[in-house]
Amino acid sequence: MKSAEIRTAFLDYFAQHGHTIVPTSSLVPGNDPTLLFTNAGMVPFKDVFLGRDPRPYVRATSAQRCVRAGGKHNDLDNVGYTARHHTFFEMLGNFSFGDYFKRDAIRFAWSFLTETLGLPKDKLWVTVHISDDEAEKIWKDEIGVDPERFSKLDEDNFWQMGDTGPCGPSSEIFFDHGPEVWGGPPGSPEEDGDRYIEIWNLVFMQFDRDAEGTLNPLPKPSIDTGLGLERVAAVMQGVHSNYEIDLFQNLLQAAAQATGHSDTNTPSLRVIADHIRSCAFLIADGVLPSNEGRGYVLRRIIRRAIRHGHKLGASEPFFHTLVSALDAEMGEAYPELREARDQIARVLLKEEEQFARTLDHGMGLLSAALDELEGKVLPGETVFKLYDTFGFPYDLTADVCRERDVTLDEEGFQRELEAQRERARAASQFGADYSVKIELDGETQFTGYDSLEDEAKVT
Ligand code: ATP
Ligand code: MG
Ligand code: MG
Ligand code: MG
Repeated sequence: MKSAEIRTAFLDYFAQHGHTIVPTSSLVPGNDPTLLFTNAGMVPFKDVFLGRDPRPYVRATSAQRCVRAGGKHNDLDNVGYTARHHTFFEMLGNFSFGDYFKRDAIRFAWSFLTETLGLPKDKLWVTVHISDDEAEKIWKDEIGVDPERFSKLDEDNFWQMGDTGPCGPSSEIFFDHGPEVWGGPPGSPEEDGDRYIEIWNLVFMQFDRDAEGTLNPLPKPSIDTGLGLERVAAVMQGVHSNYEIDLFQNLLQAAAQATGHSDTNTPSLRVIADHIRSCAFLIADGVLPSNEGRGYVLRRIIRRAIRHGHKLGASEPFFHTLVSALDAEMGEAYPELREARDQIARVLLKEEEQFARTLDHGMGLLSAALDELEGKVLPGETVFKLYDTFGFPYDLTADVCRERDVTLDEEGFQRELEAQRERARAASQFGADYSVKIELDGETQFTGYDSLEDEAKVT
């Protein structure tokens, strides 16, 4: 089954069960300063759960584009290292706003997986929250799930959108990719491996967490679920890694061609294929590379992709050329992507040209520093110099260092940032405004005083 067919099958299934199909929303959450990006299918429905946004339906279903590259849910560092994490992915979801609750949510999920998709029951593992005897009973007594493949966990089974907002205990469904893949069942010490992959999270929305951390009951208990399209496609296509699914094959080919690298199994190509999706969709949704907030997250992802291309030997701007392969893959399902295609390529090319001026030198400095390094921690001054002079975001340097098992002196880096801030403050007291180095033709990296603060916040 192709990814597009799974998406349609999901929406059809829930439409047949009384759910209204709601189109996917922007990656930039409307009116929600607490959240960097839409990181789950429930985000556009946040106010519906809170009872503030009445809708003409109590059941909804969607295929929502999501980015997890900052804030509470940040998978940037996982990309390229696990088979299952992307910065951009699609979350299929069904929602009940005070209508059905645990029993039907569990029944719908089980019947979609085992009947509509025909997945073997003995490959599926289930977890519920440690306190949730009600869900346990439904799974064991009504669904008949094997107690051998069932467990009750704590934090992993409590879902929240961010530090505040709707949340509640959850029940998750995992697929066992078999003993050839390393990893242990949920709750075991090896659960971070990729053998048992979480495919679906059913959240029993019951609370709204406020700024003080207090859990206030929602007006009505509700349901929010998220099934990762790429993960379920891997299962349906009999492959283990998300990067082996239909959708990624052409992107990987295009990335290989653009960087002049033929082995599509190279981790750097997977990173590039992943990053073109988040970057293109973020730009389509109006985000532009900048030095703060959302724009800085975008800049960090783009520069990471460029660095991986550089590692593979690409000497010319290559990243922007992948937009057409992405359009061919996803433009039909996402007309907004197709429409913004040329604009996206232009923005990426500009960023590539700008970073190209400092990337080589920065990489030279970093390689030399790593060669000379005694110990396994890169000094904060080096990290800061790369950041300040060569436009290397902190996490980009960390990404390079990780390949050599080296970590960064984060405190030292923060100290350098603070010192620069002090210098800027002192300078502006004397009337000279050095607080923002204006970017002249890319000669100097723009490092605004305000933006440093913002940047340090973006994790
Ligand atoms: P994991 O434990 O594997 O990091 P999660 O518990 O963080 O996943 P949820 O917040 O429960 O994920 O999101 C619901 C579903 O969305 C997951 O079950 C998974 O199928 C999918 N998903 C989550 N994060 C990613 C990602 N970074 N890339 C692709 N799919 C994802
Ligand atoms: Mg996660
Ligand atoms: Mg999880
Ligand atoms: Mg989960």
